[in-house]
Amino acid sequence: MEKLTGAKAGLHNLFKPLSQDVKMEELRKIFADKLLAWHQKNAIKFPWRETRDTYKILLAEILLRKTTRKQVKEIFESFIKKYPSMEMLASANIRELERVIKPLGMQRKRAHLIIRLAKVIMEKYGGEIPRDRNSLIKLPGIGPYSANAVLCLAYDEQLPLVDTNVIRVIERVFQVKSKKARARTDPMIWSFMENLIPNGKAREFNLAVLDFANLICVPKVPKCPICPVHNICLYSSKTKQSDLERYHD
Ligand code: SF4
Repeated sequence: MEKLTGAKAGLHNLFKPLSQDVKMEELRKIFADKLLAWHQKNAIKFPWRETRDTYKILLAEILLRKTTRKQVKEIFESFIKKYPSMEMLASANIRELERVIKPLGMQRKRAHLIIRLAKVIMEKYGGEIPRDRNSLIKLPGIGPYSANAVLCLAYDEQLPLVDTNVIRVIERVFQVKSKKARARTDPMIWSFMENLIPNGKAREFNLAVLDFANLICVPKVPKCPICPVHNICLYSSKTKQSDLERYHD
């Protein structure tokens, strides 16, 4: 490898990733601390986040699929006002429900799922959303993400939330790469994310990563110059290194 000297060496040192010198454990801690601190000033407010009500949290998770948070925010309050309980939802008129959720798209499929889910919760659990993960993931349309969201956001359970946005962040920062075609189903990724969660801070941390992926580490052009974890991010250090090499070619 070429030995760098003078200005070239100076630039190289400037861009030298901190991660070369710290153990993974420290790296995880730095990532979590920085993200939590960033989130204290930059958290995005949504009505389903300002509650511990499992009904609202579960419904929000279903409404949020394949649409934007902004669109869900626009209809969420009126949705909850019209269907304030699992009982009301289980007996909802499907056409009426489709009309309420139409702005989100996929209203027919979504309405069917919501009513089916509400009916099962009424019949099997008397309208109470179960509190254990095994029961939750057996409910219609509820997978590991939604089950974890309910348990983490309502009860602070130490569980990770992994979606494509979160995967993008951890792939970039830590250069972990799933070998599976669908990284969302890769236990390695879930376990990696779980290990990042600081003790007792699962709720804040998961929300911080979601907002960070949405505001800073965005898909096409991540906002590295204003990123709170740029000095430990392997993607950023690689980009800088290749920029440096291009600069000196
Ligand atoms: S430095 Fe850039 S790529 Fe790395 S986490 Fe921050 S925004 Fe994402």
